[in-house]
Parts: sequence; structure tokens; C-alpha cells
Amino acid sequence: MARAIGAACKKCRREGRPLFLKGERCRSDRCAQKRRQVPPGIHGAQLKRSKMTDYAVHLREKQKVKTYYGVLEKQFRKYYDIADRAKGNTGTNLMSILERRLDNVVYRLGLSVSRAQARQMVSHGHVTVNKRRVNIPSFLLRPGDVVSVKNRTDVLQRAKDSISMALDDVPEYLVRTEGELPEGVMLRNPVIEDISAALEVKPQLIVELCSK
Ligand code: SF4
Repeated sequence: MARAIGAACKKCRREGRPLFLKGERCRSDRCAQKRRQVPPGIHGAQLKRSKMTDYAVHLREKQKVKTYYGVLEKQFRKYYDIADRAKGNTGTNLMSILERRLDNVVYRLGLSVSRAQARQMVSHGHVTVNKRRVNIPSFLLRPGDVVSVKNRTDVLQRAKDSISMALDDVPEYLVRTEGELPEGVMLRNPVIEDISAALEVKPQLIVELCSK
């Protein structure tokens, strides 16, 4: 299964904002984006000063969203096609689909410290949906689905540790119950307001790029 690889902090510096790819470190002073606010590479400082073309503005918006959710181009295009065919605003539909990915929901519920860790938990079979094991990180959840972690001491402990760190609030489209077996329910489909404010996404720019 292909996945996005490469130096996480360089990706944040490329986009000029923290994308929270590493968990706790991203909220600390050790965040590379906070310390070095220039794009990576020897021409980084020069790039920062130069004005971006219209195409670059659109492209960077798409790349930012792909990096944030850990999605590769091929899958992103598939999501775009689904969003384009569905009723309503394509950009909003696209963001809703990305937000419904199982690895994202595990992270948003606070059961992992990063999307990368959530992805690993899912692909290692440590996550269940409606009491059934699902090992596909791109699995799209529907309203009413119940997400939980496997009833195994080490997995439970990791999930509880992540919850106790409480890096972000649980968004309104999800509800989390904290007990012996922490779990979460997706109450409704996510809307654009549910997407983390940290991303400051402009879906219209992505649609303009992908629809060409
Ligand atoms: Fe690195 Fe996280 Fe900071 Fe991004 S937000 S630069 S991944 S520490």
C-alpha cells in the first residue's frame, strides 16, 4: 500500500505553516516550522521572497491538503471525482470525504497523536468499526459508525495516553466516550466548519486547479 513518505518537517516548511504531522512535537518549541520559517533547500530564502504565480498558489493549496491528510495524488484525484459527481459544492464535498477517512477520524478522536500513527494503528489491525476489524486507512466512515481500538493492553494504553495528552478538541461531528474501551461515534457527515482551523483551507482553489 503506497503512502506519503519524506521528511515531515520539510513538508510543513514548504507550505509555510505547521501541518501537525508529528504529534506532540508539533505543539512544542521544537517545531521546525516555528524555528525556520523558510522553505527547505538552498534557495529557500529566495523562494520566500519571490512572488508566487497564480498556478503556484493553486498547486500549493492542493499539496497542503494532500500532505495534511497523507493522501497521494492518485487517491486524491479519485476523491475529487467522487466529490465532483456528488450533489452540492465540489470543494466542500472533497473536504468532507477526506475528513471521513478512518485514519483521520482515529486521529480527530484523539486515539492517536498524529495521522501517521493512526494510519499505522489501522493498517496493523488495531482499530475496529462497528466491532469489526478494519485495516484500510482510507475506509470512509458513515454517520452512526462506531470506531474503537482493539481490546489489547498495549493498544488500549497507547490510545489512553493519546487522549490524556488532548492535543486537540474532538470536533462536533464526532463524540468520544472514555471508558475501559475508548470509542467514538460519527454523528453526521463533517462540514467545512469542522475542518481544523489550523489548515485554513480554500477548497475553491483546489477545484479550480483540478477541474482544468
Ligand atoms: Fe515538524 Fe510538526 Fe512542526 Fe510540521 S508541525 S514542522 S511536522 S514539528
